[in-house]
Amino acid sequence: MADRYLHLTGTAPGRFLTRRLGLPQPVRLRRWTLETPALDGPLLHLTAGGSTLGASLGPVLAATGLQVTEQADRPAGIVLDATGITTAAGLAAVHARLHPVVRSLATGGRIVVLGTPLSADDHHQAAAQQALEGFVRSLGKEIGRGATAQLLRVAPGAAASAESTLRFLLSPRSAYVSGQVVELTDTAPDPVADWAAPLSGRTALVTGAARGIGASVASVLARDGAQVICLDVPQAREDLVRTADRLGATALPLDITAPDAAERIAAAAPDGLDVLVHNAGITRDRRLANMPAERWAQVVEVNLDSVLRTTDALLKAGTVNRGGRIVATASIAGIAGNNGQTNYAASKAGVIGLVRSLAPRAAADHGVTVNAVAPGFIETKMTAAVPLFIREAGRRMNSLSQGGLPVDVAETTAWFAQPASSAVNGQVVRVCGQSLLGA
Ligand code: NAD
Repeated sequence: MADRYLHLTGTAPGRFLTRRLGLPQPVRLRRWTLETPALDGPLLHLTAGGSTLGASLGPVLAATGLQVTEQADRPAGIVLDATGITTAAGLAAVHARLHPVVRSLATGGRIVVLGTPLSADDHHQAAAQQALEGFVRSLGKEIGRGATAQLLRVAPGAAASAESTLRFLLSPRSAYVSGQVVELTDTAPDPVADWAAPLSGRTALVTGAARGIGASVASVLARDGAQVICLDVPQAREDLVRTADRLGATALPLDITAPDAAERIAAAAPDGLDVLVHNAGITRDRRLANMPAERWAQVVEVNLDSVLRTTDALLKAGTVNRGGRIVATASIAGIAGNNGQTNYAASKAGVIGLVRSLAPRAAADHGVTVNAVAPGFIETKMTAAVPLFIREAGRRMNSLSQGGLPVDVAETTAWFAQPASSAVNGQVVRVCGQSLLGA
């Protein structure tokens, strides 16, 4: 599982050798810890061609805890407010603002471009704002040194809706997220009493929580103050109980495909659920020509059908509380497709369809948001079993030239799960270091 190449390029001789050979230069990414909770340096705030966010953006940027400035020698983050750009000519301001400062961004720094939702009746505005997407995705690919770039679309005058997302994107928690476009609604954020424990008083259920990504999600949600219920198949009981005990969580041994799964979940959460994370997933790889029907059916059943069924039943029964958050787990395979994974990619693409369709209705009818994480190459037991050559390709073929860690998916899930993330709805965010697959 260890990434020996990343270790090698972290040493002076290794760096020298790999540079001479023109090989990728991954930078060891800094994740959130209690000792290093924030980026190391100021936040440069630039504006290109006016703003639709007005003065309300200032306090939101200040809430990130970074020192906000209009001039910095070595910024840890740069926010470019491009919400006022409505014409192709206006895009010149993006170049004018960022060209002089992009080299000065600190190693592992962040660039966030703020745009607005595309207009349905002004195609010049739509063209200019869509241009920002191509810009940011390209910047993410060329910026290097562990830095990332994202586009955040914020409705005019709705800067407050962006606070939880800016706190996430401008922090070590988003280390492996790059080249993403997130569009916020103008919904006001639910209040947060304590940003150090934003999920305090909330109950979260995580499926597939015995190990891997699910165990990490459970751990991060518990860190953020949630009371967690860890669900996994009865065969994984030993690992499940160990994970749950470590977190002061409850273990719920249950196969998510069981016909009474929703009822059993509801019984385990008498006060309802505030966060529901559909993480359980399986692969049964074969090319379609060699794939027996049961391998197809098992994957669609666990990864998609059970997610649809339990989501419907828990929403209908009112088990997901108002202000609740549903987070589903897709995959870049569901976006790009993958050789030998027609079943898996179909199931994960289905998850994306579910999220996009249900999100607005779940918000309107239940006050619940629905989003998806789409992990790329994450260092887990699953990817450690991949043959060496394919594993190396998976690790390096992304803008950060390394695999992600389970905690990267967990931090993204925790951002979706926050009370303050009411405006984050119907989004599919890739946690893939901007993988070339499906980009
Ligand atoms: P994993 O195999 O390590 O863990 C999955 C967990 O889900 C296991 O503990 C398993 O027992 C549980 N599970 C399986 N079927 C279940 C069922 N019917 N009911 C309850 N629990 C069940 O996998 P992982 O790498 O941690 O992946 C977690 C999720 O992330 C999956 O949905 C996976 O498809 C997705 N994902 C992973 C990667 C990656 O690189 N590891 C990439 C993209 C997507």
